[in-house]
Amino acid sequence: MIHWRLTLFILVIGVTPSLPAQSSDLMRRMYRHHEEVKEAGLDERRFKHSDILARINALSADPAFGVSTAGHSVQGREIRAVSWGSGPTTVLLWTQMHGDEPTATLATLDLWNALQDEAFLPEAAKLKERLTLVFLPLLNPDGAEVYERQNALGIDLNRDALRLTSPEAQILKHWRDSLDADWGFNLHDQHRYYSAGISNLTSAIAFLAPPPDVSRSKPPHRQDAMRLIGGLSNGLQKLIPDQVAKYSDTFEPRAFGDNFTKWGTRTILIEAGWLPGDDEKQILRRLYFATLVAALDGIAKKTYIDEPISTYNDIPFNQNHLTDLLLKEVHIQAGRSTYLVDIIFKHKEETSPDGRTWVRKAQIEEIGDLSPYGAYTILEGEGKWLIVPARTHPHVMIDMAELREEPLTDLILSGTAIIRMGQVTLAERYADAPLAVRRLDDNASEPIGLGSNPTFYLQDEKGNYRYLIVNGKAWDLRGEEWKSDLQRLIAKGLD
Ligand SMILES: [Zn+2]
Repeated sequence: MIHWRLTLFILVIGVTPSLPAQSSDLMRRMYRHHEEVKEAGLDERRFKHSDILARINALSADPAFGVSTAGHSVQGREIRAVSWGSGPTTVLLWTQMHGDEPTATLATLDLWNALQDEAFLPEAAKLKERLTLVFLPLLNPDGAEVYERQNALGIDLNRDALRLTSPEAQILKHWRDSLDADWGFNLHDQHRYYSAGISNLTSAIAFLAPPPDVSRSKPPHRQDAMRLIGGLSNGLQKLIPDQVAKYSDTFEPRAFGDNFTKWGTRTILIEAGWLPGDDEKQILRRLYFATLVAALDGIAKKTYIDEPISTYNDIPFNQNHLTDLLLKEVHIQAGRSTYLVDIIFKHKEETSPDGRTWVRKAQIEEIGDLSPYGAYTILEGEGKWLIVPARTHPHVMIDMAELREEPLTDLILSGTAIIRMGQVTLAERYADAPLAVRRLDDNASEPIGLGSNPTFYLQDEKGNYRYLIVNGKAWDLRGEEWKSDLQRLIAKGLD
């Protein structure tokens, strides 16, 4: 009996993965050669409607594309609908309904370039024959203008699927209904603290086949979406092992994804997460692009039909597990006593008023036993390190140029890492550098505490400063990298 079951098991394992391999080969090819079709000149997240409108309009020169006005945002920006293909299967893809979630918009520009390049994507002929694609790129242009989630009324479009107060939400609903879309792609970015399951690796791409109701029922069309996601996840695993996740499947009655499923559309939510060192999300854009091509190919060829639902079920859920910096088992001093704690830093991005640039503002999120958490950077104190506040340079500088006169490296190594100047720009105050630059009226030396952003050293048992922490980032003072980061800050000030 045991022998028989074992044989059957081996047999089943041997037969399953034939078809999805096609999509995963295509995905890998798209990823590898992405540079060839990447839309140039858009390498940062804070682009605006005016940066992409001309690129969208230029598509109308190609008879394969239809470009029309879908409507206007609250502030009157034109939202375009882009169509391509003449097949019986209708696919609606909308991007950036949250203004500060731009990755899919860039991946879509790249996708259009790929669809126009037969040599690059020979599969396009089949896609064109079998699918009708309609894109609503940058559905929330007013939000993108100031790099915010909501539209100009302050409404989260993804909580407006039922009431349809916002013109942008009305556009999306109109297109779903008039197409009676077979498939819907709800394209987003998620925050940087998710891991795929409990792990120290970030959740780079997350999927969901949104549920149509609170009981998360699985009508056949939702199962199709699950199967497609399973195949995409398998393909991505080869590019980013253990960094593919499933978004929370809690039903949100006001969200578009959930309602799309309720209205009968096979719906795929894709979230671009984060990868360390990919601040402007250009590697994620590449992964996103490859995922979209593989998804459309899977729909056109119906390869998803053979993917078992279990593949989808086995994708780990996003876990809100990560932080930016985790200091483990370090001592803090209060009065005459020291206390053993873990400390977590997270940061927020503050966008400049013109919506173009940003700074990273770190703060302490939690203090205590933080053993359940992971982080982008973890420093293990093992109870041997003491937190020593950085000293403030007694002399007030006029500007960054004056810093050149100072023996900064020696000062930092001996415990002074805060300087004050008459004028300090936001970019200088929150620079990625091992030196805290403060204005005269700033709190130069913030204490360790919740919500604060202190500058301090980690001192070892021999009294040596091992690490310097500035704006929630750690610099290893035994290495050389911190010196070049310091030089970069000073050089910038001299421009
Ligand atoms: Zn979103």
